[in-house]
Amino acid sequence: MSLSTKEARGLVKITIKKEDYDKIVAHALKERPDEACGLIAGRDRDDGVREVVKVYFLTNIDHTNEHFSIDPKEQLAAVRDMRAQGLKPLGNWHSHPETPARPSEEDLRLSNDKNASYLILSLAVKGHPVLNGFHVEGEQGERQARKEEIEIIGG
Ligand SMILES: [Zn+2]
Repeated sequence: MSLSTKEARGLVKITIKKEDYDKIVAHALKERPDEACGLIAGRDRDDGVREVVKVYFLTNIDHTNEHFSIDPKEQLAAVRDMRAQGLKPLGNWHSHPETPARPSEEDLRLSNDKNASYLILSLAVKGHPVLNGFHVEGEQGERQARKEEIEIIGG
């Protein structure tokens, strides 16, 4: 295996608490048919684990099942809250009500932060939500998503 950006930056995996995962699923189901979205915050530990400590549930002002735009006011408030709590912004999450848990062309186009983790929850198969994490590599136009391992802990 060649040295990827993921290895270069030392990220081993993302952990998310079971209760937060359950809230994401519940929120995404409630927001259907629209995509649901929000932010994730926490810390990058020395052992390479990216620990999601807090999940933010924000409004998709596009209100469609094809894409999302996070309400900028809510985003600002969330980032302030992260700072106040000493948490690092880690990326965002959104749902795909009808499509698989991988980035769409538009998701890739809008994923501008190479250090961010982008979580996508698919509700395409009833009763079997799938959460995948990605980061992006490469420049605009040749951008690629690479999967990141997610571990749901506790519960
Ligand atoms: Zn998407």
